[in-house]
Amino acid sequence: MKTNCAVTQDLLPLYEEELLQPDTQRFVEEHLQSCQECWKIAEQSQIPLPSKVNPGSSPKKMIRKITVKLTTIQIFFVAIAFVLAMSTTVMNDNRDFILTYTILGVAVYLFYRSVLVAILLAAVPNFIWNCLLYMTDIFRDYYADSFFEALGMALINLATHLLFTVIGIAIGFCIRKIMEE
Ligand SMILES: [Zn+2]
Repeated sequence: MKTNCAVTQDLLPLYEEELLQPDTQRFVEEHLQSCQECWKIAEQSQIPLPSKVNPGSSPKKMIRKITVKLTTIQIFFVAIAFVLAMSTTVMNDNRDFILTYTILGVAVYLFYRSVLVAILLAAVPNFIWNCLLYMTDIFRDYYADSFFEALGMALINLATHLLFTVIGIAIGFCIRKIMEE
């Protein structure tokens, strides 16, 4: 910690002149937030200080808040993915899935910036749902004659749905590139 203090204090003049690299500036600001001693020194040198984090939101609390928010969104996405899986089955001759799975791909990819997460979110609920559909007789109309027939149908279904999720991911990727420019 003492080394950080010395480094921060050495950097203060540069910080005041706004000559620091963004990462270094962040380091100084973070240190100032957490170190009374350096904060006082900066204050005495009349260096414009970063606004103090209010005591109510310690970093830990903030992280927890963000995690809770993320988890809520994750549950939301998973729920949506399940609803989509249930409402759209190719065999049902329902073509809505083309649009909904594309949108799902776009939304999840833009949110998580991860192709893997987007594919898993679309694929897992879909596969589970189709296995339920074809392997159990809860929904008698769809009950397949054999396990392999059911598995085959579930996989074909999965592949057709994923195709549009991948298209969605590609659209999401393009949107991201355009936004970043
Ligand atoms: Zn310090």
